[in-house]
Order: sequence, then C-alpha cells, then structure tokens
Amino acid sequence: MLRRPHTTEPPAVPDAPDRHVGGQVQLLRPPGAKIWCSRCTPHRGVIGSEGSVRQEVPLARKPRQKLGEILVGLGVVTLAQVDEAFAAARARGMRLGEILVETNACKEEDIAKALAQQFSVDFINLDVVSDMNKIDKARIPADLIKKFLVLPMAGSGKLRLVIHDPMDIDTLEMLRFRVGEFEQAGIASKRQISSYINGGAKAEGPPRKQLAGDSMDKSIDMNKSSIDRSAKSLDIDDDGPIRRLVARIILDAVNGRASDIHIEPAEGHIMLRYRIDGVCVEIEKLQKNLQNAVLSTIKLMAGVNIAERRIPQDGRIKFPVPEIDHMGEPVYKDGQPVINQIDFRVSTCPAFYGESVVLRILRPDSVRIGLLNLGFEQDSLDVFNKIIRRPNGIFLVTGPTGSGKTTTLYSALAILNTPDRKIITAEDPVEYNFNGINQVQIREQIGLSFGVVLKSMLRQAPNIILIGEIRDREVADIAIQAALTGHLVFSTLHTNDAPSAITRLVDMGVKPFLVASSIQAVLAQRLGRVLCPLCKMIDDAPDPKFLKLVDIAPEEAMGKVMKAVGCPNCKGTGYRGRKAIFEMMIMNSEIRELAFQRAGVSKLRAAAVRGGMRSLLGDGRIKILKGVTTPDEVAKYAQIEGFDPSEVTKR
Ligand SMILES: [Zn+2]
Repeated sequence: MLRRPHTTEPPAVPDAPDRHVGGQVQLLRPPGAKIWCSRCTPHRGVIGSEGSVRQEVPLARKPRQKLGEILVGLGVVTLAQVDEAFAAARARGMRLGEILVETNACKEEDIAKALAQQFSVDFINLDVVSDMNKIDKARIPADLIKKFLVLPMAGSGKLRLVIHDPMDIDTLEMLRFRVGEFEQAGIASKRQISSYINGGAKAEGPPRKQLAGDSMDKSIDMNKSSIDRSAKSLDIDDDGPIRRLVARIILDAVNGRASDIHIEPAEGHIMLRYRIDGVCVEIEKLQKNLQNAVLSTIKLMAGVNIAERRIPQDGRIKFPVPEIDHMGEPVYKDGQPVINQIDFRVSTCPAFYGESVVLRILRPDSVRIGLLNLGFEQDSLDVFNKIIRRPNGIFLVTGPTGSGKTTTLYSALAILNTPDRKIITAEDPVEYNFNGINQVQIREQIGLSFGVVLKSMLRQAPNIILIGEIRDREVADIAIQAALTGHLVFSTLHTNDAPSAITRLVDMGVKPFLVASSIQAVLAQRLGRVLCPLCKMIDDAPDPKFLKLVDIAPEEAMGKVMKAVGCPNCKGTGYRGRKAIFEMMIMNSEIRELAFQRAGVSKLRAAAVRGGMRSLLGDGRIKILKGVTTPDEVAKYAQIEGFDPSEVTKR
C-alpha cells in the first residue's frame, strides 16, 4: 500500500476552485492545471483533456479503522482477545484475522464482515439464499473463480467481484491482468466462497500463501492476447493501485530530473532510489508485499518475459510524461499541456531478495540542449565546431560510463544532420531516435555485431558514421579504414584522458601509423554538478586543501569561488544539473610523430599541452572561477592523482 507522510505543502494555486465531492476532487480548472485539494486527502495530479483527473497521485490516505477495533465494536471479540491475538500474529508473522480464526475466538465470516466494514464494501453472506442470488458465475471464466476464489456479482456493466482478502494486493493485481478492471464490490469469507464454488459442499480453501502462488503461476502462463490486452490497459489513466504506483514512481523520477530509477528488493522492503545529477538518492522504502506485483507490472510494460526471474532481461518502456517548467508547473502549447513520450531502458537482474530492476531514462531533451549547454568554453566550442565539419578522419570521445559521451556525439550529429549528408549509426543501444539518420541497433545474439553492421554500412555510401563504441581490434580496423576512405567517423573509447586513446588503440593491436594518420581529435570529458543558481554563495573561506588540488591560489579564489548552499529549487543539495568538463586533444604533426613511435601517455600529453590542449583540470578551474561549480566537484571528477574522492563525499 502506498503511504506517504501527510504533506503540508500549500496548494499551488491558493484560491484553487477545486471542490471535494463524494471522495473525488472536482476540477473547475483548465486541462493540464495542477490540482490540490487542501480540504482532506491532498491530491496532486494533472487534469486530462476532458477535465478528468489524470495521473492523480494520492499523497496520503484517510486512516482506516483498525480491524481489531471493528471486531470489538461488533461485539465479536474482547479487547483482551485482540491484544493477545495481535501479539501472537506479530510473533508468527501472521495476520490478526488468521490468529483469531485459528484460536476459535471468532469465525471466518466475522472477519469478512469486519473487513467489509473496514473497506466500506458489502458483506456477502453466501449461507443465505438472498445473497447467493446476487452471484452470477458466468461472468468470468470458471478457472479464474477457482484459482482466485472470487465470485462475480450478477448484472451488466462494470465487473463487480466478491473477494475474500482485500489486503492481498498481489493477487488482486494478478486478477486484474486476467479480467481487466473490476470493482471490489463485496467481501465474503474464503470458506463460504470455496463451498459455494464446490456446489455447497463444505470445503476448506487452500491456505492463503499457496493461493497467492497458484494465482501467480496462472497469470504467468497467460496467453499472448491477454498479455496484449493487459499491456494496452497499462495506461496511466487506469486506477489499478500498482499501475498507479509505478506511474507515480516514473513521473516523480522524470520530474525530479533523475537519470535512472533503481528498484531493489531487500529483506523486509523494496528500496526505491533515483540517480539525480549522478548521485543516487534514497526516495522511499516500498512494502515488501508489493514486490511481485510491482516487478511484474514493470516487466509487462517493458515487454519482457514476466515468468522469467532467473536470468537478466532487457526491455523498453515508452511513457507519456507531461512537461513541467522549472517551477514544477505544466507547460502549455496552444492551450494544451505538452506531453513528452519518454523512453526508458529497463534491465532486470536476479538478486538475492528478488529481481532488481533499473529503469534508465533516455531523455530526448538532453540531446536538444545544444553544444554550448554541454559545458564547452567558447574557444573549445569553436575548435569542436571546426573538427566535426572535416570531411574525413576519426573523432573520438572518451571517458568512463556516465560521463556524457553519447550526448556530446548526438549533439554533434544533430548539427551535421542536413539533407546533403548521409549519416549512419551502429549503436548498442540506440539511445535516441533522430529523424533523417539511419540508426542500427547492434544485436550480438543474432550475429549482428559491430563488425558485421559496419561492413554493410560502408556499402551504403554514407558521409558520416557513428560507432557506439570501439571495443576491439576488428571494429577499430574498420573505423580506420572508413576514415581513410573519405568518411567522418565518430566513436567512443573507455579511457580516462585524451592522450590515452592513442595508446589504447595501439594496445588493441592497431598499427601505430594507422592511428597516427586517421585520428583527427580526441575529446575526454566528465560530468560535474552545477551550482544551483538560486542559492549559491561566494565562499568566504574555501577549503585550502581543495583549492590546492585544483591549482587555485587563495588570493585568486577570493570573491570568485562559490559554494553550495541548498534551497527548494535544488532539493537542498546546492547543485542543479550537470555540465561537462572537457579536454580536447587536436592531432598535430608532433603528436602524430609520437604516436607513430609508440610513445607513452606522458609524452603524448606533454606534446598535446604544448599544442594548446587544456586539461580536464584546467577546464574545471575556469568553471570554478566563473562560479559554475565548486573545487570539490572538479577534484572529484577530474580524477586528480593522489586524491581520494571519498573525502568529498564525507564533507
Ligand atoms: Zn538551490
């Protein structure tokens, strides 16, 4: 069950004309407006085009009366019995109702009656004829009735079901996958439901645990068409609690500028974390009993096999997300809220407490940010613009995973993507789709390797090719061959700095003269957090240790170096967004000569600096003195020798 602390946040619009009618927030505002009902349960969401509430996210629940209190109120048990049963239930990991029935303190029907009161639905007594007549078994398949121990109520229109356990969200959610939406119209005891199914014969239903297992198995082997149906119905308009929870997790992550969502089952809970500006942040602990339903929902949305839990799987989700501005308000265009279809790459991995799932958000907007926003200083940008317009040669971008290499390359492609140029890419994975660019997804498992794709690509007479990553000698050789035969080649390598790219290629077995003649430039980059513009302040006493690390003299720092403070705009972190720091090595005759001679990294680096290369640290230094970021951030990301990044984390 989704629980969040009651919010004290004021309504976004103080005089919001929202009304609370019969448990629903009535909206008198234009589509897309943010809604808050401050009178009772606060709601947050975006209004759909017909004025209906879309993506409504309940932030708090009305407290329900406790089951024990209801039973005492009904005169079924005494307070002492409840207390005793509660202690036993806790000790044995069982539910209060189960203990009370087991100890003969009350009957199953008493629990069902109390549950019905607790959940404000009808109690159905299947031992009396009038209630039995309310049932129409023909409305859902018999196997579902037997498996899930539910009974459909007679009538037409929306399916109304009599259930026995409203708390078993897993089972109810699985049932929803099978039969679509239904209303929990009544509660009957499990004993009565099974005896009704078995034609009135006294029969005990299977124990609860086993039942949940059965229904799970059943939904796993559901046929293709029901998967399609369920997948289609996984729209955020649907009010299934699990789907709503998953939708809320995704929307919160996107709106919170997260780059990925981590759902990690632990012993007693599921940990939900977002990575924001490169740092993992714990968001909340979800209840353990939601685990199967949440994981199944995400896997179904991602189009992977939900029955397979033993091997890692990859999938994709496309999810509509309303665009919001920096104040969290929806963005309109022509009177309509702007909805972005955001892609998520989903990967599942079996872990000890269950499958761990990561959703990586592939943001189309981060491609559109433009080269200047990437973090280039004007002089570097001029050089970069010149290099990417050369007719041939190799342009490499290097850095560890998550350093923004792809974004830089895509930004370059976006500039070069004109009708007079043919551009082909070979990527693993294709992260963003471009109009007018032929993008090929590498699939090693069916033999579509980088090597195979590249060879066929070259027969298609492109002007520009992008190779996701140079992983081995074969790919490196093809890239060089392409560059030497009149193509401009973009690719990435995993090296820490620009000069190392040369030695890495030679180490792969590429002939030094080929490296020397084909490479045009190597760009190394890192992403560093940018100070929040609303709360950053001049640092009156910057830490001399960090200043020394980034090579800034204390007198130079005075009045220029800024520090992180923290405000609502940056969620108290003091940072908002990231920019790259760069090190761009342009090949010149001296560097080519050194490459040809198989010179080491330090010699290459010295030559590059003589040729005008600004190091990662040098670029970071400029950004510190401009007040864009802090010495701590640059020290952390420039990977200065002898520097322990954990010192920054400790601060
Ligand atoms: Zn701030």
